[in-house]
Amino acid sequence: MTFKPVSLKPPRRPGRLWLVVGLVLALAVAGGVFAYRQLGGSRSSRWLLFADYRANPEKYAEIVLQPGMRCGDAPFAFPTTGVPFGLWDQSFRPGHRHAGIDIFPGTQPGVTAVYAAYPGYLTRLPEWSSTVIIRIPNDPLAPTRQIWTYYTHMADTDGTSFISEQFPAGSEEIFVEAGTFLGFQGDYSGDPLNPTGLHLHFSVVRDDGQGRFLNELEIANTYDPSPYFNLPLNNNLNPEEFPRCADELTIEDWTLVEPDAP
Ligand SMILES: [Zn+2]
Repeated sequence: MTFKPVSLKPPRRPGRLWLVVGLVLALAVAGGVFAYRQLGGSRSSRWLLFADYRANPEKYAEIVLQPGMRCGDAPFAFPTTGVPFGLWDQSFRPGHRHAGIDIFPGTQPGVTAVYAAYPGYLTRLPEWSSTVIIRIPNDPLAPTRQIWTYYTHMADTDGTSFISEQFPAGSEEIFVEAGTFLGFQGDYSGDPLNPTGLHLHFSVVRDDGQGRFLNELEIANTYDPSPYFNLPLNNNLNPEEFPRCADELTIEDWTLVEPDAP
């Protein structure tokens, strides 16, 4: 009688191969999504028209939004003059996800006024030359939560502030009505050698749950501004077109600051 030798080799673990295949697939998908985002950003026909808008602003008069314009029953009115070229979750460079909207007026720094889109309590930190943030205790879309609205680039290339003298650096919790003049659009980026193109950057920022605003550079710390303005401001849903109001546009009776005043 012979005994069949028993194999002491451990059974092969098929799991490992599948893990590798899965990882390769996941990387391929992530790479594809990343490439798509980059191409989508650079091929945006909206962005390609930007140079033409700068050169021939009169051609775009119909799509330029004005301060105080409200689309349908949107809770927020438009805070300044211009076209939102840069939308929420648009990518301007590899790995970047834009956390707000960029509104371009096609003018010069220091002349296009910025107003509060919605009432709240304004803070300007001591080190802020170009930025204010407004606390809204009850989000008009979800009244149990607090949100913040963030307005920036209101200074010139060198960081000389264009913010209203009503709100000196270090201002805290000053109540402002919708339509309150906040300052003028500028091109300050934080680096005098590398100014940003003239625009207002506006974002809707999450609260940390303790009454403080989160870092608005992270898109996860912001909300899609589209429902607040009732405009298609989410780049994922509107990658090509200019944001247009699909409802009736009305205009608030705000006191405008020169040179926006008619
Ligand atoms: Zn921006």
